[in-house]
Amino acid sequence: MNKLADSSWLDFEQQHVWHPYAALQGTLPALPVRSAEGVHILLEDGRRLIDGMASWWSVIHGYNHPVLNAAAKQQLDQMSHVMFGGLTHRPAAELAARLVELTPQPLQSVFFCDSGSVSVEVAIKMAIQYWYALGQPDKQKLLTVRHGYHGDTFGAMSVCDPEGGMHHMFSHLLPQHFFVPAPQARTDAEWVDSEIVPMRDTIERHHNEIAAVILEPIVQGAGGMRVYSPEYLRQVRALCDTHGILLIADEIATGFGRTGKLFACEHAGIAPDILCLGKALTGGYLSMAATLTTEEISRTISTQPPGAFMHGPTFMANPLACSIACASIDLLLDSPWQERIAAIENSMCDKLEPCRALAGLADVRVKGGIGVLELDQPVDMPRITRAFIDRGVWLRPFGKLVYIMPPYIITAAELDHLLSAMVETVKESVRSSGP
Ligand SMILES: *Cc1c(COP(=O)(O)O)cnc(C)c1O
Repeated sequence: MNKLADSSWLDFEQQHVWHPYAALQGTLPALPVRSAEGVHILLEDGRRLIDGMASWWSVIHGYNHPVLNAAAKQQLDQMSHVMFGGLTHRPAAELAARLVELTPQPLQSVFFCDSGSVSVEVAIKMAIQYWYALGQPDKQKLLTVRHGYHGDTFGAMSVCDPEGGMHHMFSHLLPQHFFVPAPQARTDAEWVDSEIVPMRDTIERHHNEIAAVILEPIVQGAGGMRVYSPEYLRQVRALCDTHGILLIADEIATGFGRTGKLFACEHAGIAPDILCLGKALTGGYLSMAATLTTEEISRTISTQPPGAFMHGPTFMANPLACSIACASIDLLLDSPWQERIAAIENSMCDKLEPCRALAGLADVRVKGGIGVLELDQPVDMPRITRAFIDRGVWLRPFGKLVYIMPPYIITAAELDHLLSAMVETVKESVRSSGP
């Protein structure tokens, strides 16, 4: 059945297949993986790595989980897919019921998407169409903070950090939105009211043009792995309410427990008007995302011309993905996830905080199941990747950031191994790049 010989498939792959944020035939070839189990990634050559990345936030229960496998197999025998235009199925209803119940109360309707970036596109379109339906077609701009990351499609790119982002060469094609500096305070204790001034000024000056503020609540992910004070979110919520602006929370990375709350908005006790979910939604099994909104926004869009929401991916509400997502959510809620995240957070604080004193280290940040070491200089990717692998762990730093967000099921011993490997490798790296 195999078309490619065991000795040559990898060569073929390197010549013909793109990887994320990479050159074709790049300098750091991708590692071949045979299988994965629990927190371990098993390489083709037999080496076993502890996964510190949860495959980019998604694999919260670990790989090859019997409960998720069973849900997939059961749904596979019913149907893998059926179009969602004009047809529906129980898995979509079951997943929507869970999402409506778990997310903040005002969020009552669910739009299923096939990826996180698409859910951001949908959120932006919903916000703009809502104001259009209310007879305010001039409200088409978005407002956001620097260091954000919201995806790689054009609408999503337009609200990513304009400098730190990877999208600057497309900037002339992107809609121009409003950006303000990201808050500096990390906790409510550090909060000073002057932090809100740029956001408040921009809203006061431009609220007639602004449809929505879009933010990653509490933790900014791929735009810089930053943590900020819940007070900022509360004040933005209040400003949006005062000035007739919607609030879009992009919880694609933070959702489903990663920050220690089921959703990061809960740290601030606020509800967004539109919520984007993805990544951990299916426990890392399939690409699926969702955009939730309020009854009022859904009704306004649905009852005013053009009377429909104009978006509909081919694989919308894919039954296989919905069934696995239901099983993943049930598994999460039946698990002691709060204790697990708290234990991960404590270990990360113990092991990472002392690194603050290291020469070459700019910052240490820990929030829930996320641990970040920020270096003074960008890492040497081939070299640091090799060092991690030699120590039996899988990490994927970017720029100056070495970070982990392991699967929640990681044991104390595995986490200890992961953190020791992270710290030792970073020490080695800053020593070798130092003066
Ligand atoms: C990953 C991510 C996205 C994009 O999701 P994709 O599934 O990769 O398209 C959007 N927003 C945030 C906050 C993310 O972390």
